[in-house]
Amino acid sequence: MTALRDVLDRGLPSFSFEFFPPKTDAGARSLWKAIRRIEPLAPTFVSVTYGAGGSSRDRTVEVTKRIAAETTLRPVAHLTAVGHSVTELRRIIGQYADAGVRDVLALRGDPPGDPNAPWIPHPEGFTHAHELVCLVKESGEFGVGVAAFPERHPRSPDWDSEIRHFVAKCRAGADYAITQMFFRVEDYLRLRDRVAAAGCDIPIIPEIMPATDVRQIARFAELSGAAFPEDLAHRLDAGRDNPADGHRIGVEYATEMAERLLAEGAPGLHYITLNRSTATLEIHRNVLSSRSARHGLAAVQR
Ligand code: FAD
Repeated sequence: MTALRDVLDRGLPSFSFEFFPPKTDAGARSLWKAIRRIEPLAPTFVSVTYGAGGSSRDRTVEVTKRIAAETTLRPVAHLTAVGHSVTELRRIIGQYADAGVRDVLALRGDPPGDPNAPWIPHPEGFTHAHELVCLVKESGEFGVGVAAFPERHPRSPDWDSEIRHFVAKCRAGADYAITQMFFRVEDYLRLRDRVAAAGCDIPIIPEIMPATDVRQIARFAELSGAAFPEDLAHRLDAGRDNPADGHRIGVEYATEMAERLLAEGAPGLHYITLNRSTATLEIHRNVLSSRSARHGLAAVQR
Protein backbone atom coordinates (compact mmCIF):
# COMPACT_ATOMS: atom_id res chain seq x y z
CA MET A 1 0.00 0.00 0.00
CA THR A 2 1.29 3.48 -0.84
CA ALA A 3 2.43 5.34 2.28
CA LEU A 4 -0.16 7.87 3.44
CA ARG A 5 2.39 10.69 3.30
CA ASP A 6 3.04 9.90 -0.39
CA VAL A 7 -0.71 9.95 -1.05
CA LEU A 8 -1.01 13.31 0.74
CA ASP A 9 1.93 14.69 -1.23
CA ARG A 10 0.24 14.03 -4.59
CA GLY A 11 -1.30 17.47 -4.48
CA LEU A 12 -5.00 16.59 -4.65
CA PRO A 13 -7.00 17.12 -1.46
CA SER A 14 -7.50 14.09 0.75
CA PHE A 15 -10.84 13.28 2.37
CA SER A 16 -11.06 11.32 5.59
CA PHE A 17 -13.64 10.48 8.24
CA GLU A 18 -13.32 9.99 11.99
CA PHE A 19 -15.27 7.48 14.08
CA PHE A 20 -15.26 6.57 17.75
CA PRO A 21 -15.56 3.11 19.38
CA PRO A 22 -19.27 2.45 20.10
CA LYS A 23 -20.42 1.58 23.64
CA THR A 24 -23.55 -0.46 22.81
CA ASP A 25 -24.87 -2.86 20.17
CA ALA A 26 -27.11 -0.09 18.83
CA GLY A 27 -24.06 2.18 18.68
CA ALA A 28 -22.14 -0.51 16.79
CA ARG A 29 -24.97 -0.81 14.25
CA SER A 30 -24.99 2.96 13.73
CA LEU A 31 -21.19 2.98 13.30
CA TRP A 32 -21.18 0.19 10.74
CA LYS A 33 -24.06 1.75 8.83
CA ALA A 34 -22.04 4.98 8.63
CA ILE A 35 -18.89 3.09 7.57
CA ARG A 36 -20.76 1.25 4.83
CA ARG A 37 -22.28 4.51 3.52
CA ILE A 38 -18.86 6.17 3.44
CA GLU A 39 -16.94 3.24 1.94
CA PRO A 40 -18.15 3.70 -1.69
CA LEU A 41 -16.77 7.26 -1.66
CA ALA A 42 -13.25 5.77 -1.40
CA PRO A 43 -11.96 8.25 1.18
CA THR A 44 -8.19 8.58 1.60
CA PHE A 45 -8.50 7.08 5.10
CA VAL A 46 -10.82 6.69 8.07
CA SER A 47 -9.68 7.00 11.68
CA VAL A 48 -10.91 5.55 14.97
CA THR A 49 -10.39 7.49 18.20
CA TYR A 50 -8.73 5.88 21.21
CA GLY A 51 -10.87 5.59 24.34
CA ALA A 52 -9.99 7.25 27.63
CA GLY A 53 -9.57 3.87 29.34
CA GLY A 54 -10.85 0.34 29.97
CA SER A 55 -12.97 -1.55 27.49
CA SER A 56 -13.41 1.37 25.08
CA ARG A 57 -9.72 0.95 24.22
CA ASP A 58 -10.25 -2.71 23.32
CA ARG A 59 -13.17 -1.60 21.16
CA THR A 60 -10.94 0.91 19.35
CA VAL A 61 -8.54 -1.92 18.52
CA GLU A 62 -11.39 -4.25 17.47
CA VAL A 63 -13.10 -1.69 15.23
CA THR A 64 -9.82 -0.64 13.61
CA LYS A 65 -8.82 -4.25 12.94
CA ARG A 66 -12.27 -5.03 11.54
CA ILE A 67 -12.09 -2.06 9.17
CA ALA A 68 -8.73 -3.39 7.94
CA ALA A 69 -10.06 -6.95 7.54
CA GLU A 70 -13.58 -6.41 6.21
CA THR A 71 -13.62 -3.19 4.22
CA THR A 72 -11.67 -1.55 1.42
CA LEU A 73 -10.90 1.42 3.68
CA ARG A 74 -7.51 2.45 5.04
CA PRO A 75 -7.79 2.68 8.85
CA VAL A 76 -5.72 5.09 10.93
CA ALA A 77 -5.62 3.98 14.58
CA HIS A 78 -5.52 6.75 17.20
CA LEU A 79 -3.29 5.76 20.13
CA THR A 80 -2.61 7.70 23.34
CA ALA A 81 0.06 7.39 26.03
CA VAL A 82 -2.51 7.77 28.83
CA GLY A 83 -2.16 5.07 31.50
CA HIS A 84 0.10 2.85 29.35
CA SER A 85 3.61 1.62 30.00
CA VAL A 86 5.92 1.50 26.99
CA THR A 87 5.58 -2.30 27.04
CA GLU A 88 1.79 -2.03 26.72
CA LEU A 89 2.09 0.49 23.91
CA ARG A 90 4.46 -1.87 22.08
CA ARG A 91 1.91 -4.68 22.44
CA ILE A 92 -0.91 -2.57 20.96
CA ILE A 93 1.28 -1.43 18.07
CA GLY A 94 2.15 -5.11 17.52
CA GLN A 95 -1.55 -6.01 17.36
CA TYR A 96 -2.02 -3.39 14.66
CA ALA A 97 0.97 -4.67 12.73
CA ASP A 98 -0.45 -8.23 12.86
CA ALA A 99 -3.81 -6.98 11.58
CA GLY A 100 -2.24 -5.11 8.67
CA VAL A 101 -2.97 -1.65 10.12
CA ARG A 102 -0.08 0.53 9.00
CA ASP A 103 -1.16 4.00 10.13
CA VAL A 104 -1.23 5.39 13.67
CA LEU A 105 -2.17 8.83 15.01
CA ALA A 106 0.25 9.20 17.95
CA LEU A 107 -1.16 11.30 20.80
CA ARG A 108 -0.33 12.08 24.38
CA GLY A 109 -4.00 12.04 25.45
CA ASP A 110 -5.59 13.88 28.37
CA PRO A 111 -5.84 13.06 32.09
CA PRO A 112 -8.81 10.66 32.43
CA GLY A 113 -11.97 12.22 33.89
CA ASP A 114 -10.91 15.86 33.65
CA PRO A 115 -8.99 16.98 30.53
CA ASN A 116 -7.91 20.11 32.42
CA ALA A 117 -6.39 18.26 35.38
CA PRO A 118 -2.57 18.18 35.65
CA TRP A 119 -1.00 15.65 33.30
CA ILE A 120 0.67 12.77 35.16
CA PRO A 121 2.50 10.30 32.93
CA HIS A 122 2.52 6.55 33.56
CA PRO A 123 5.69 5.78 35.58
CA GLU A 124 6.91 3.48 32.81
CA GLY A 125 5.31 5.42 29.99
CA PHE A 126 5.71 8.62 27.99
CA THR A 127 5.39 12.28 28.94
CA HIS A 128 4.83 13.76 25.48
CA ALA A 129 3.56 12.66 22.10
CA HIS A 130 6.92 12.92 20.30
CA GLU A 131 8.12 9.90 22.32
CA LEU A 132 5.18 7.84 21.06
CA VAL A 133 5.91 9.00 17.51
CA CYS A 134 9.46 7.60 17.90
CA LEU A 135 8.16 4.31 19.33
CA VAL A 136 5.68 3.74 16.50
CA LYS A 137 8.27 4.67 13.88
CA GLU A 138 10.86 2.28 15.30
CA SER A 139 8.24 -0.49 15.53
CA GLY A 140 7.90 -0.99 11.78
CA GLU A 141 6.79 0.53 8.50
CA PHE A 142 4.11 2.76 10.01
CA GLY A 143 2.82 6.09 8.78
CA VAL A 144 2.45 8.35 11.80
CA GLY A 145 0.18 11.35 12.27
CA VAL A 146 0.09 13.81 15.17
CA ALA A 147 -2.31 16.39 16.63
CA ALA A 148 -2.19 20.10 15.78
CA PHE A 149 -4.04 22.94 17.50
CA PRO A 150 -5.17 25.96 15.45
CA GLU A 151 -6.00 27.84 18.65
CA ARG A 152 -2.97 26.48 20.56
CA HIS A 153 -3.12 23.53 22.95
CA PRO A 154 -5.09 24.67 26.03
CA ARG A 155 -2.08 23.96 28.30
CA SER A 156 0.54 25.68 26.13
CA PRO A 157 1.73 28.92 27.73
CA ASP A 158 2.52 30.67 24.42
CA TRP A 159 2.83 30.17 20.69
CA ASP A 160 6.61 29.79 20.73
CA SER A 161 6.48 26.70 22.93
CA GLU A 162 3.44 25.36 21.04
CA ILE A 163 5.27 25.52 17.72
CA ARG A 164 8.56 24.25 19.19
CA HIS A 165 6.84 21.17 20.59
CA PHE A 166 4.86 20.61 17.40
CA VAL A 167 8.06 20.75 15.36
CA ALA A 168 9.62 18.22 17.81
CA LYS A 169 6.89 15.76 16.78
CA CYS A 170 7.76 16.32 13.12
CA ARG A 171 11.48 15.86 13.81
CA ALA A 172 10.60 12.62 15.66
CA GLY A 173 9.16 11.32 12.38
CA ALA A 174 5.54 12.49 12.08
CA ASP A 175 4.36 12.31 8.48
CA TYR A 176 1.30 14.54 8.77
CA ALA A 177 -0.92 16.22 11.33
CA ILE A 178 -4.66 16.49 11.89
CA THR A 179 -6.03 19.51 13.71
CA GLN A 180 -8.33 19.88 16.66
CA MET A 181 -11.78 21.10 15.56
CA PHE A 182 -12.03 24.85 15.05
CA PHE A 183 -14.55 27.28 13.57
CA ARG A 184 -12.42 30.13 12.18
CA VAL A 185 -10.43 29.46 9.02
CA GLU A 186 -7.93 32.20 10.02
CA ASP A 187 -6.84 30.14 13.05
CA TYR A 188 -5.86 27.25 10.79
CA LEU A 189 -4.02 29.53 8.35
CA ARG A 190 -2.05 31.21 11.15
CA LEU A 191 -1.00 27.84 12.60
CA ARG A 192 0.07 26.58 9.17
CA ASP A 193 2.13 29.73 8.56
CA ARG A 194 3.78 29.53 11.98
CA VAL A 195 4.72 25.88 11.44
CA ALA A 196 6.08 26.65 7.96
CA ALA A 197 8.08 29.59 9.35
CA ALA A 198 9.66 27.14 11.84
CA GLY A 199 10.93 25.09 8.89
CA CYS A 200 8.40 22.24 9.09
CA ASP A 201 6.49 21.23 5.97
CA ILE A 202 4.30 18.28 6.96
CA PRO A 203 0.72 18.35 5.65
CA ILE A 204 -1.68 19.68 8.32
CA ILE A 205 -5.17 18.37 7.66
CA PRO A 206 -7.98 20.52 9.11
CA GLU A 207 -10.71 18.77 11.06
CA ILE A 208 -14.28 19.64 10.10
CA MET A 209 -17.05 19.35 12.67
CA PRO A 210 -20.60 19.55 11.26
CA ALA A 211 -22.10 22.14 13.64
CA THR A 212 -25.69 21.02 13.28
CA ASP A 213 -26.74 21.06 16.94
CA VAL A 214 -26.01 24.30 18.78
CA ARG A 215 -26.10 22.79 22.29
CA GLN A 216 -23.89 19.82 21.42
CA ILE A 217 -21.36 21.96 19.55
CA ALA A 218 -21.14 24.50 22.36
CA ARG A 219 -20.31 21.63 24.72
CA PHE A 220 -17.66 20.13 22.39
CA ALA A 221 -16.13 23.56 21.84
CA GLU A 222 -15.90 24.08 25.59
CA LEU A 223 -14.27 20.67 26.13
CA SER A 224 -11.73 21.10 23.35
CA GLY A 225 -11.06 24.78 24.07
CA ALA A 226 -12.20 25.80 20.55
CA ALA A 227 -13.67 29.28 20.31
CA PHE A 228 -17.30 29.28 19.24
CA PRO A 229 -17.57 32.36 16.99
CA GLU A 230 -20.48 34.70 17.58
CA ASP A 231 -21.59 34.67 13.96
CA LEU A 232 -21.88 30.85 14.02
CA ALA A 233 -23.71 30.92 17.38
CA HIS A 234 -26.02 33.58 15.95
CA ARG A 235 -26.67 31.60 12.77
CA LEU A 236 -27.27 28.36 14.69
CA ASP A 237 -29.54 30.13 17.15
CA ALA A 238 -31.94 30.75 14.28
CA GLY A 239 -32.36 26.94 14.04
CA ARG A 240 -32.42 26.25 17.79
CA ASP A 241 -36.11 25.29 17.88
CA ASN A 242 -36.22 23.48 14.58
CA PRO A 243 -33.72 20.62 14.15
CA ALA A 244 -34.10 20.68 10.35
CA ASP A 245 -33.10 24.36 10.23
CA GLY A 246 -30.24 23.73 12.67
CA HIS A 247 -29.03 20.89 10.45
CA ARG A 248 -29.18 22.99 7.28
CA ILE A 249 -27.39 25.95 8.87
CA GLY A 250 -24.63 23.71 10.33
CA VAL A 251 -24.08 21.99 6.99
CA GLU A 252 -23.91 25.37 5.21
CA TYR A 253 -21.36 26.75 7.70
CA ALA A 254 -19.13 23.64 7.53
CA THR A 255 -19.35 23.60 3.72
CA GLU A 256 -18.26 27.26 3.55
CA MET A 257 -15.34 26.53 5.91
CA ALA A 258 -14.30 23.40 3.99
CA GLU A 259 -14.39 25.17 0.62
CA ARG A 260 -12.38 28.10 1.95
CA LEU A 261 -9.79 25.82 3.55
CA LEU A 262 -9.26 23.95 0.28
CA ALA A 263 -9.11 27.23 -1.66
CA GLU A 264 -6.40 28.36 0.79
CA GLY A 265 -4.37 25.22 0.01
CA ALA A 266 -5.27 22.89 2.90
CA PRO A 267 -4.09 19.37 1.97
CA GLY A 268 -7.46 17.78 2.70
CA LEU A 269 -10.42 17.63 5.07
CA HIS A 270 -10.90 15.31 8.04
CA TYR A 271 -14.58 15.05 8.93
CA ILE A 272 -15.77 14.21 12.45
CA THR A 273 -18.75 11.92 11.88
CA LEU A 274 -19.86 11.19 15.48
CA ASN A 275 -20.58 7.77 13.93
CA ARG A 276 -23.37 9.22 11.80
CA SER A 277 -22.98 9.92 8.16
CA THR A 278 -25.85 12.20 7.10
CA ALA A 279 -24.45 15.69 7.79
CA THR A 280 -20.88 14.72 6.91
CA LEU A 281 -21.93 13.25 3.60
CA GLU A 282 -23.97 16.33 2.73
CA ILE A 283 -20.96 18.57 3.42
CA HIS A 284 -18.68 16.24 1.48
CA ARG A 285 -21.02 16.14 -1.52
CA ASN A 286 -21.35 19.94 -1.50
CA VAL A 287 -17.55 20.27 -1.48
CA LEU A 288 -17.14 17.67 -4.23
CA SER A 289 -19.71 19.24 -6.50
CA SER A 290 -18.29 22.75 -6.17
CA ARG A 291 -14.74 21.42 -6.75
CA SER A 292 -15.69 19.37 -9.79
CA ALA A 293 -17.59 22.38 -11.18
CA ARG A 294 -14.38 24.41 -10.79
CA HIS A 295 -11.60 21.89 -11.47
CA GLY A 296 -13.16 18.97 -13.36
CA LEU A 297 -13.74 15.45 -12.09
CA ALA A 298 -10.16 14.61 -11.03
CA ALA A 299 -10.39 17.23 -8.31
CA VAL A 300 -9.88 15.07 -5.23
CA GLN A 301 -7.57 12.35 -3.96
CA ARG A 302 -9.04 8.81 -4.16
P1 FAD B 1 1.69 16.66 23.05
O1 FAD B 1 2.21 16.89 21.68
O2 FAD B 1 2.52 15.87 23.99
O3 FAD B 1 1.35 18.11 23.68
C1 FAD B 1 0.65 18.24 24.91
C2 FAD B 1 1.09 19.53 25.59
O4 FAD B 1 2.45 19.37 26.04
C3 FAD B 1 1.11 20.74 24.66
O5 FAD B 1 0.81 21.89 25.42
C4 FAD B 1 2.55 20.79 24.17
O6 FAD B 1 2.95 22.09 23.75
C5 FAD B 1 3.28 20.36 25.44
N1 FAD B 1 4.56 19.69 25.15
C6 FAD B 1 4.85 18.83 24.16
N2 FAD B 1 6.14 18.42 24.23
C7 FAD B 1 6.68 19.05 25.31
C8 FAD B 1 7.96 19.05 25.91
N3 FAD B 1 8.96 18.32 25.41
N4 FAD B 1 8.15 19.82 27.02
C9 FAD B 1 7.14 20.56 27.54
N5 FAD B 1 5.91 20.62 27.00
C10 FAD B 1 5.67 19.87 25.91
N6 FAD B 1 -7.41 12.11 22.77
C11 FAD B 1 -7.77 10.84 23.10
O7 FAD B 1 -7.79 10.48 24.29
N7 FAD B 1 -8.08 9.91 22.11
C12 FAD B 1 -8.07 10.23 20.80
O8 FAD B 1 -8.33 9.40 19.95
C13 FAD B 1 -7.72 11.57 20.44
N8 FAD B 1 -7.70 11.92 19.13
C14 FAD B 1 -7.31 13.19 18.79
C15 FAD B 1 -7.27 13.54 17.43
C16 FAD B 1 -6.90 14.80 17.04
C17 FAD B 1 -6.85 15.16 15.58
C18 FAD B 1 -6.57 15.78 18.04
C19 FAD B 1 -6.18 17.16 17.62
C20 FAD B 1 -6.62 15.47 19.39
C21 FAD B 1 -6.98 14.16 19.78
N9 FAD B 1 -7.04 13.78 21.13
C22 FAD B 1 -7.39 12.49 21.47
C23 FAD B 1 -6.78 14.77 22.19
C24 FAD B 1 -5.29 14.85 22.57
O9 FAD B 1 -4.84 13.62 23.09
C25 FAD B 1 -5.16 15.96 23.62
O10 FAD B 1 -5.50 17.20 23.03
C26 FAD B 1 -3.84 16.07 24.34
O11 FAD B 1 -3.96 17.03 25.41
C27 FAD B 1 -2.68 16.56 23.48
O12 FAD B 1 -2.15 15.53 22.77
P2 FAD B 1 -0.84 15.76 21.87
O13 FAD B 1 -0.61 14.49 21.18
O14 FAD B 1 -0.92 17.01 21.09
O15 FAD B 1 0.26 15.96 23.05
